[in-house]
Amino acid sequence: MMQLNYLMPTRIIMGEQCIFENRSLLAQLGNKALIASGKHSAKANGAYDDVVKALKANGQDCVVYDKVMANPTDICVFEAGIMARSSGCDFVLAIGGGSPMDAAKAAAVLAINDISKEELFGITFTSALPLVAVPTTAGTGSETTQYSVLVDTTEADGVSPKSGGPVKRSFTSPLLFPCYAFLDARYMLRLNRTITVNTALDALSHAIEGMLTLKTNYLSNVLARESINMIMECMDTLLNFPGDPSMFPLEKREKLLLASAVAGMVIAQTGTAAPHSMGYLFTLNWGADHGRANAQLMKSFLSWCREKEQALSNDGSGPRISGLCKALGMELETFFDLVEKLLGEREKASEAELSAWSKLPMKNAAATFIQPSQEEIARIYLESFGFCESGIPDSLG
Ligand code: NAP
Ligand code: ZN
Repeated sequence: MMQLNYLMPTRIIMGEQCIFENRSLLAQLGNKALIASGKHSAKANGAYDDVVKALKANGQDCVVYDKVMANPTDICVFEAGIMARSSGCDFVLAIGGGSPMDAAKAAAVLAINDISKEELFGITFTSALPLVAVPTTAGTGSETTQYSVLVDTTEADGVSPKSGGPVKRSFTSPLLFPCYAFLDARYMLRLNRTITVNTALDALSHAIEGMLTLKTNYLSNVLARESINMIMECMDTLLNFPGDPSMFPLEKREKLLLASAVAGMVIAQTGTAAPHSMGYLFTLNWGADHGRANAQLMKSFLSWCREKEQALSNDGSGPRISGLCKALGMELETFFDLVEKLLGEREKASEAELSAWSKLPMKNAAATFIQPSQEEIARIYLESFGFCESGIPDSLG
């Protein structure tokens, strides 16, 4: 029997000037907003001005927390939460990429709940301020998810390879779905090649991994296929990124922005698979952008999925991977070539470092439709950086 349990409470509004034109929705959220953003981009790309204009027209007030860094820390979200609380904010509005959106989600909880830093990732809470998301990158889909991915600086149990170092953790609750997501692709007009490509790879990895988890379902697959389709329609433009970012066609920016929100709707249902947990270590240790980190593992991970799925089936078929190829409109090898072109030269990795990481807990590995063993995770890491040949180790087939 088919099973479905689908929740996506975010109202998505897309279009030029969609914030100002729909400002009456903001008016219902209260008198004062905490605007959470990174240091520069929100003001440079026009999103901040549009938000302030809409709030002013509504007679609403705001305070600004513009110190969200890439990969926001628990320290940062407490600062933002305290600012929202001490300023009497009624709602939180995030402008930016996944980092400000994720920080805003945690701040919306901390503004009205007494939670200590040590409790942050374990506590159950039943209230949060309403959230509004204005994504200005097309990748994380945080505007349509209930996750806030944060760097836990209190971690001291050696989970990180640098013993006692920070780890990335998800802070998750249905209360963290934004009530509104405003998608205006004009804000992305100045996004450079690196951020455009790495965030597109993140969206693509959400849609792909969403097809390969234990929670994958009929609706998530419908959405994943459509998201993949939209991103693949932008592939040529991504591969031939124009010298001047503003020459990247607006219609493609829009497509990537929508594809990212749709891929967020996928992982909101399915979660992500092994590459997301594995990639966090590239980000924490090398500073690799989140989307690039996942994509570096894509070839080896998908090859492993294909071999494993075929090996485990009675008739050698592999419906998950063949479904993915259908969505991509090509065989995996052709797709891998495109991803390699987007990634360019790989980071320098050491065999010892990768082997050590494979021994760490990988939360999302358990969510993958076939759970990779520690040895298989090691192989995916090593193969991704040319330290071993492809294929499942004989003993594991
Ligand atoms: P980001 O860390 O939010 O932003 C990266 C950079 O892009 C920053 O320097 C930012 O500048 C700049 N930027 C943002 N918008 C811009 C624009 N329109 N024009 C020019 N520059 C712009 O990157 P991200 O990849 O979007 O987010 C990554 C984070 O999201 C990671 O922490 C990841 O773990 C998380 N994530 C969350 C989910 C979820 O469901 N919650 C899913 C996937 C990933 P400023 O700092 O000046 O703004
Ligand atoms: Zn991601």
